[in-house]
Amino acid sequence: MQLFKPLETEKGEDKSGVTTTEKVRCLIIGSGPAGYTAAIYAARANLKPVLYTGLQQGGQLMITTDVENFPGYPDGVTGPQMMEDLKKQAERFGTEIRIGIATASDFSGTPLKVIFDDQVEIAAEVVIIATGATAKYLGLPAEKKYSGMGVSGCATCDGFFYRGKDVAVVGGGDTACEEASYLAGLCRKVYMIVRRDVLRASKPMQHRVMTAPNIEILWQTQVTDLFGTNGVEGAVLVRHKDTPEEETFNLKIDGLFLAVGHSPNSDVFKPWVETDETGYIITRPGSTCTRVPGVFAAGDVMDNVYRQAVTAAGSGCKAAIDAERYLAKML
Ligand code: NAP
Repeated sequence: MQLFKPLETEKGEDKSGVTTTEKVRCLIIGSGPAGYTAAIYAARANLKPVLYTGLQQGGQLMITTDVENFPGYPDGVTGPQMMEDLKKQAERFGTEIRIGIATASDFSGTPLKVIFDDQVEIAAEVVIIATGATAKYLGLPAEKKYSGMGVSGCATCDGFFYRGKDVAVVGGGDTACEEASYLAGLCRKVYMIVRRDVLRASKPMQHRVMTAPNIEILWQTQVTDLFGTNGVEGAVLVRHKDTPEEETFNLKIDGLFLAVGHSPNSDVFKPWVETDETGYIITRPGSTCTRVPGVFAAGDVMDNVYRQAVTAAGSGCKAAIDAERYLAKML
């Protein structure tokens, strides 16, 4: 869905729907680890940040059960609890947290303008975009039913809980191969469910999965349903769909990992910032600076490689420092 709407009509006279305009120093968009960490740093640097949460308050971690790989939590923590802790920490230093979704942006000059919920215009000196990425799903009702009960979008987050078990990864790209390889080190058996007869992944990644002794690729196969009483116990698969050889069969698995791509939530900002072909915001190497002065990007919206809570938090910290230095230079 293209969310961007120009702030002005062709005649340039109005910003239809905008009822309030407010000036702020530092605007942070997004409430995952990147957004909250940027807020903690920006607030402590006296930038008086205003943070808009976006649609999913707390980001992707709100749909993760246990987080065991975020440093500082020796006994692990639930995703929602960690996000609540980060929110409290950001508020402690004076971040103003608001619920709202960015629906348009205008970075053509200063101040930098972002509209929320088609109504409120925020005019900011600096903007930190930390809107994250959304894991794509297949769109099956069973995915929702078993979410957190055997269906996952992140092997690094949840793979540990499937040690010694049988799992399947859907997808044939680099992410799917990476997830399958990671899971192969933990699980008894990993099936890759690939809809075509080729992998989209890079050659080295293909080699890795094809030579792993406990990874089996199910070619030209798709998931149509899942079954199980208190969690996933198996998947209904169809091979050679829509051909005379079509066959349906059940595969016993304990977990299904989806790796059919992520969509970075960058649409609203695309007219201004540079993005790669999949929509990830491009930042200047070694920094969080976008091509627009005063606009910084942090977390999964600009990272298609690591995509971890801790790396997102790290880049949120960098974005706040970059923003602070940018403002200092402006004085
Ligand atoms: P991707 O390259 O878009 O691959 C998505 C995979 O999911 C494809 O195999 C696709 O099948 C399959 N798929 C999509 N929709 C499906 C559906 N409805 N049912 C079944 N299968 C479906 O996504 P990605 O693997 O997340 O990679 C995204 C980008 O990040 C890529 O540029 C990748 O190279 C990069 N990346 C790099 C690294 C690394 O360098 N270490 C790691 C991860 C990702 P088709 O092939 O049939 O379309």
